Amino acid sequence: MCFIIVYKSKMLYHLGCVYKIFCEDDENISYIGSTFNCIEQRLENHKKQYQLSLEDNNITYKYALRPYFEKYGVDRFKIVKLKDYVCCRSDKYDFKQLHAYEALWINKLKCINVLTPFNPLSKLTAKMLWYCPICKTLVQYKERNRHQKTKKCLKAKEQNGV
Ligand SMILES: [Zn+2]
Repeated sequence: MCFIIVYKSKMLYHLGCVYKIFCEDDENISYIGSTFNCIEQRLENHKKQYQLSLEDNNITYKYALRPYFEKYGVDRFKIVKLKDYVCCRSDKYDFKQLHAYEALWINKLKCINVLTPFNPLSKLTAKMLWYCPICKTLVQYKERNRHQKTKKCLKAKEQNGV
């Protein structure tokens, strides 16, 4: 069973969980996420998202796993549940509480998450990441033009003969 719903006043109580995706070949690579669905399904979705990002080499929204999937292969990654949390939600789009729990784990564990999901001050654009096809790094979307003029990226461009 993946979730429960209990109605109490007008709030919804859903069972969510924080999970960890890790690489079997390198214990230093782990990614923390959270979901109200089954974790196995969540891993499949990550793999689909990776495929999509390969087809559309542009904006990758909060997509931290791609360079690692690319390096080790998607089949070398496994998912485990870290903890279940009963979360109070105003509607099905409300991830605030679950993201707060996720942020606790991100702060606690060494992981590759690029951005903490729970940051009430950040605007959407602050969370958007861009995957540079030249030097294969993730940079802030709004910094993408400036990034392509950095020494690191220009050097990669030179080496790739782009
Ligand atoms: Zn670059």
